[in-house]
Amino acid sequence: MRQATIGLIGGMSWESSSEYYRIINQEMNRRLGGAHSAQCLMYSLDFEGIKRLQHEGDWESLAEGMKEAAVRLERGGADFIVLCTNTMHRLADAISSAVNIPLLHIADPTADRIKAAGFQRIALLGTAFTMEQEFYKGRLRQHHGLDVIVPDESDRRIVHEIIYKELVLGRIKPESRQAYREIIARLVERDAQAVILGCTEIMLLVSDEDSPVPLFDTTTLHAVAAVDRALTGLAAAPQL
Ligand code: GLU
Repeated sequence: MRQATIGLIGGMSWESSSEYYRIINQEMNRRLGGAHSAQCLMYSLDFEGIKRLQHEGDWESLAEGMKEAAVRLERGGADFIVLCTNTMHRLADAISSAVNIPLLHIADPTADRIKAAGFQRIALLGTAFTMEQEFYKGRLRQHHGLDVIVPDESDRRIVHEIIYKELVLGRIKPESRQAYREIIARLVERDAQAVILGCTEIMLLVSDEDSPVPLFDTTTLHAVAAVDRALTGLAAAPQL
């Protein structure tokens, strides 16, 4: 069976990119059997400079870097782009405008799965950029009709700090897992029916047993959606 070539923009962080690579290959093998694995390219960036520019608010420089990565993948033969981070989807439009191949937006397979499960009011965990800015919540609300809530300010700070000071460095601490459990419990008290793990490293820390409501892990859902797309060709590419 012909596969399309998946073009992954990785390194944000590499801890989660390696999960993408693992899940994509395992899922491709599960579907096709034998010794099948995924046909893919990954362009992996150095996260230190990206993290600095994010915190300086220099999204223009970041857009240039993301566009260049996408162009390199297109030149390398990728049929579509998978940006392996929620936060950098702030630049989804810029990336799409730089290439002639589609971008598989991380929020779409996540929202599709949430809607299929019948949930309406969902909580979003991620970096402060993802929880506070409109690019992600807005897509969930306007394109998918979901009600989105986020933690209060002090909880958002905890979620963000644990991502940048621990998870992107591969540090998994039980006390941080406990902090996330408590934050999830407070979101459930505010009637969240499900929680989006809207940062691609959170799945390294938290799993179903840490939550009284279902968790929707963007890393897994995005990676599986990439396999779907690679096996069904390019016809169904959604436009931003
Ligand atoms: N991987 C994270 C995300 O999904 C955070 C790292 C980044 O800022 O790209 O948002």
